[in-house]
Amino acid sequence: MPALSEIARERGIKYFLISYVDLFGTLRAKLVPAVAIDGMAKSGAGFAGFASWLDMTPADPDVFAIPDPDSLIQLPWKPEVGWLAADPWMNGKPVAHAPRNVLKRMKAKAEKQGYVMKTGVECEFFLLQPDGSAISDAADTAAKPCYDQSALMRRYDVITEICDAMLELGWGPYQNDHEDANGQFEMNWNYDEALLTADRQAFFKYMVKSIAEKHGLRATFMPKPFANLTGSGCHAHVSLWQGGKNAFDDAKDELGLSKTGYQFVGGLMAAAQEICAITNPTVNSFKRINAPVTLSGATWSPNSVTFTGNNRTHMIRVPEGGRFEFRLPDGAANPYLMPAAILAAGLDGIARKADPGKALDINMYTEGHKAPAGTKKLPLNLLDAIRLTDGSKVLRRELGAEFVDAYVKLKTGEWNDYARTLTDWERKHTLDC
Ligand SMILES: [Mg+2]
Repeated sequence: MPALSEIARERGIKYFLISYVDLFGTLRAKLVPAVAIDGMAKSGAGFAGFASWLDMTPADPDVFAIPDPDSLIQLPWKPEVGWLAADPWMNGKPVAHAPRNVLKRMKAKAEKQGYVMKTGVECEFFLLQPDGSAISDAADTAAKPCYDQSALMRRYDVITEICDAMLELGWGPYQNDHEDANGQFEMNWNYDEALLTADRQAFFKYMVKSIAEKHGLRATFMPKPFANLTGSGCHAHVSLWQGGKNAFDDAKDELGLSKTGYQFVGGLMAAAQEICAITNPTVNSFKRINAPVTLSGATWSPNSVTFTGNNRTHMIRVPEGGRFEFRLPDGAANPYLMPAAILAAGLDGIARKADPGKALDINMYTEGHKAPAGTKKLPLNLLDAIRLTDGSKVLRRELGAEFVDAYVKLKTGEWNDYARTLTDWERKHTLDC
């Protein structure tokens, strides 16, 4: 691969964003002029780790974010800028709890066993007014707004600018729609190897926000921005490949899933409660998972640990052979930690030959009580979820104790901050006690 400065000259890149995602999913970056990029590519761009959501102190030495040249994306709406995903290093080694490093470690573990995980993600988002108080389209009021053609076409300019960008980048986008909540949209591009999808997801969120802003709107991936509307999920479609073949494929099976596939699903079900603080990482996330029925008639999110065939009311759906859809993650899920956790749980399932039990064929929204005794419930709030992550043997072994400790520490801090906030609800219900 030619030097980044040479690529910059060829493609007219004036600046590079050297960028990493911290534990809370925020993109942190330095904007580096092309003349300085080759030095930075070698030694990394310097950051004070404590100033972002990494588990560090102000006394720690510099974090150096070393860009991955393969991840280069030229901003389609500002081609003079090249975006690079970077790996945080400190004291001459990768920061063990930094999200992209966590996924790379998991990816290497899978490769040692001959596996490559591929993912496709469905990032739902809302287009809001710039102050974030309401959806941007006052005419978007239908009770069942999903696939609403008129509401979709009223946002044609912004949606197609994003889709054109993905076409230009070669991601293979193939459909865009209005989703189940007023003001909510989803755009799909081709699935690929998990780290590549993670880089794209991190960039996609930035791109959607940037292009929406250009159009005078505000995009949000917040899991549940409006109490009465369907929340934003980030459903992940997962397959595992071995020697160029899909190891989840079995045409002879009723659902088209191989033994390896069932074991992976079994592992994911066993660890679902423990990874919930990763797939659903905010206080707000639990208002999506445990929501009452919405205006449209369904929340489209699970609250129990179950799997099924082509039935969207369960946590894991097998829509067709060779893959499954994990419907638990939401829009706040960290693009790197989510696939890392899925892979950790799935590989553990394969190693233990985990049995997911029988596929359930009931409507979980109306017949949840018919699920077999012992069906596990997902945690009801972030604190419960964090405690389950903290106690997870699988996550400590697979993702590393250093990561789990760092994550639990920072997330507990976030929970405490929330718990100390006095709400209107409390005043309303306690003032006259
Ligand atoms: Mg959707």
